[in-house]
Amino acid sequence: MDKKRRALLNGLGLSLASLPFTSSLSLAEHHAKYKGKKLGIALVGLGRYANRIADGLVNSQFWNLNGIVTGSPEKIPAWKEKWKLKDSNIFNYDNYDQLINAKDIDVVYICLPNSMHADFTIRAAKAGKHVICEKPMAVSVKEAEDMIAACDRAGVKLAIGYRLHFNPYHQKIIEWSQQKTFGNIGYVDGVFSINVGPAGQWRLDKKLAGGGSLMDVGIYCVQAARYATQEEPLSVTAQFGPITDREKFKEVENGISWQLKFPSGAYSTGYSAYQNYIDTLTVGTEQKTFSLSPAYSYGPLKSSVFGGDNSGFSFPFKHHQQTQMEAMGPLFLSKDPLPDHISGLEGLKDMKILMAIYKAARNGKPVKI
Ligand code: NAD
Repeated sequence: MDKKRRALLNGLGLSLASLPFTSSLSLAEHHAKYKGKKLGIALVGLGRYANRIADGLVNSQFWNLNGIVTGSPEKIPAWKEKWKLKDSNIFNYDNYDQLINAKDIDVVYICLPNSMHADFTIRAAKAGKHVICEKPMAVSVKEAEDMIAACDRAGVKLAIGYRLHFNPYHQKIIEWSQQKTFGNIGYVDGVFSINVGPAGQWRLDKKLAGGGSLMDVGIYCVQAARYATQEEPLSVTAQFGPITDREKFKEVENGISWQLKFPSGAYSTGYSAYQNYIDTLTVGTEQKTFSLSPAYSYGPLKSSVFGGDNSGFSFPFKHHQQTQMEAMGPLFLSKDPLPDHISGLEGLKDMKILMAIYKAARNGKPVKI
């Protein structure tokens, strides 16, 4: 980070070294406090994930879906009818800045390809709207810093859509780590691989995606390593996997593996790919080893415990996006800043690690983070 940007972040109280990693996710009091209050939200980009978020907003306690932003006019009629949208709250990518006039839109949720996140976040901030931005937050560390600075300057909140922070399995892992319930965490392994589908899509376009499987699904394993250890990694080594399809993977990686070292001596290995379906997280503590598989997808997630039964580590299924949005409602209704781990700062930390993983894989040498 150059001196000017570091000074800006420090000036905003955003010194990166000293940020606490909390898991204050018990929101029952917040829910009671904001009962009956609602926020207007607009979805930006109406692809697959925006549809999931919209599912999570049906009968919401805290949100009214009051607007959409789309470059596909043919999608408008169905959304307009289902959500009873006003014409004046239907935007395209060019007139998006007119959001400033939509008094019943408080928050925008950005579900666009990764390289569009920074621009649409910064423009929303300038229009005075709070932002929830999908992961990965951006395609570079600088963009992530600029997004945080823009939202801070405009006095709006910036959250990243890390839905697993609201998932009971992942919250339990955080709780056990913070309380050292089963002793220190020695090892975390995460693998997330999906079959990405055919060539010609934005996920395989470096300009739009910023990278391959690491940016899209590996980020969950990096997140898990950070919250399972409750530490920030010191250094990383990494290796690209084989190129299995030259046409499909001519711009971004298919597979990549990485190894993170943490200050306590904890160690984490990770792998992501765009080929097979693999979805696992293993956390080794001094007394027990916990595993989830599936670990990061929409669920139901499934746990197992080596050296014991999984009682205390088994939860009823809840719709991930609905759970996330119902937890985020009070956080946006409140005048308090967002908890750090829900905010852009969390996205920025991940961006720094993702970029260090790519550098380590390219150079074949360890990279300090
Ligand atoms: P998608 O391809 O289904 O949707 C992308 C949307 O962006 C489409 O509506 C498309 O029309 C629009 N768009 C605008 N400009 C575009 C362009 N130049 N090229 C391609 N599309 C363009 O993608 P998605 O799966 O909905 O992913 C959107 C974002 O959500 C990504 O950042 C992704 O990482 C994130 N995501 C998050 C989760 C999660 O669980 N948190 C899951 C899936 C996707």
